[in-house]
Amino acid sequence: MVTAAMSKDAATTCDLAIIGCGLSGLAAALFAAEKGFSTVLAGVSGGLMFATGLLDVMGTHPIETGHGWTDPWAAIDALSNDIPDHPYARLTTDTIKEAMEKVVLFLGKNGLSYVKSGENNSEIMTLLGTTKRSYYIPSTMWEGVRALREKRPCLIVGFDELQDFSAAQITQNLTGEWPGLRSLSISLNGITAASPLVSGDILARDMEMRGNLEKLARLIRPHLEDAETVGLPAVLGMKRPEENIEALSRELGTAVFEIPTTPLSVPGLRLNEVFMERLAERGVNLFFPERVLSWEKAEDGAFLLAMGQGPQKKWVRAEGVILATGRFWAHGLRADRDRIRETLFDLPVHQPEKRDEWHQEDFLDLRGHPANCAGLAIDNQFRPLNRAGEPAFEKLFAAGSILANQDWIRMKCGSGMSISSAYGAVNAFSRLRG
Ligand SMILES: Cc1cc2nc3c(=O)[nH]c(=O)nc-3n(C[C@H](O)[C@H](O)[C@H](O)COP(=O)(O)OP(=O)(O)OC[C@H]3O[C@@H](n4cnc5c(N)ncnc54)[C@H](O)[C@@H]3O)c2cc1C
Repeated sequence: MVTAAMSKDAATTCDLAIIGCGLSGLAAALFAAEKGFSTVLAGVSGGLMFATGLLDVMGTHPIETGHGWTDPWAAIDALSNDIPDHPYARLTTDTIKEAMEKVVLFLGKNGLSYVKSGENNSEIMTLLGTTKRSYYIPSTMWEGVRALREKRPCLIVGFDELQDFSAAQITQNLTGEWPGLRSLSISLNGITAASPLVSGDILARDMEMRGNLEKLARLIRPHLEDAETVGLPAVLGMKRPEENIEALSRELGTAVFEIPTTPLSVPGLRLNEVFMERLAERGVNLFFPERVLSWEKAEDGAFLLAMGQGPQKKWVRAEGVILATGRFWAHGLRADRDRIRETLFDLPVHQPEKRDEWHQEDFLDLRGHPANCAGLAIDNQFRPLNRAGEPAFEKLFAAGSILANQDWIRMKCGSGMSISSAYGAVNAFSRLRG
């Protein structure tokens, strides 16, 4: 028997339903709650748990030349001129800055502070021993930016139990330009469970157990020599990384910083945890983990979203919807034999005419692959367009990587584009409500 709570008539009612719990969905929920909208956020975990924790705004344009920018705002101006359908081109730089500042303020208040270098990108080392540009840097990584810039004597420490992070590889690749860089690998036996391999998330929680930071400091101290700063994989705590860095720094008498790791990424998990916990406290109604499987239009124009199947179906009734369901990996887009489809509303997807135009012949082609710019075409209110080029629905919006005409990985604009398009969508909903 269908219980009342699971019937359409007893649907959870809200102003705005956001579908997708990646960075764009989470940011949209934050903005919606701040505006006082009753908000539902429905989805399963997004790409954030694999993300580095860096908040890129804009790094590379045009991608075919690989031109890197120190000033991301000048890069956005150039991009908006060259690609007028890029999501950034629908926003002013002031709006993008405002969106980023709101998210960074929220994260800072909840124990994840970010640092930037004026209005410019900063250069940060990667776990491959290369460098990349990003805008907002987790404060736990900031001493690494300074050490790299000033080439200060530095010891990179890896753990035998964390196999995807090699301190030796980092130093080998950077040592030519940074003579004071050394590496060390230590075993964490006694700090973490006696197992040959440990994942970053387990290590991060172990680092919060009493006495473990002191043990770690004892293992590193004999190898410090002239090091003024010590870099470690980004596993120095899940809930209190900043306090941990400070404590370890005190123990060692040097600056300490984290280096982004491979997925599963602890800085990404930290972001995910802070958003999920604090959004719930701000009154966002979380349907998690839930996949929205179908939708209907009610007579009054509201959206009825269905999660689950059969008698277990849960319903949400929303005046407006933001679709933040990501790309192929997240199943927001699906590549069929002949065309790329949007999976929930069957919205038209901007894409190359024919399948054999999806990819360049060379996998590493600097221009990127046209399939990576496929996605939803939108109007200036972030509303996906129907086949006639009109908004598909008055109050259906889209945000994040599902949007067309952007290749966030190559352009290095992932977080900035996700956050600011979410802001654009929430503001548009607010305006259309009057
Ligand atoms: C490996 C990796 C590294 C990264 N590194 C960086 C970096 O260095 N700098 C940076 O700025 N950003 C980085 N990012 C983050 C990136 O910016 C964002 O993940 C990206 O912008 C996309 O976010 P999104 O919310 O649009 O999509 P996603 O993160 O893909 O989230 C989409 C969500 O929608 C859900 N969904 C799909 N369909 C449904 C449905 N029907 N019902 C409910 N839910 C649904 C999916 O399950 C998923 O949870 C990285 C991401 C990854 C994966």
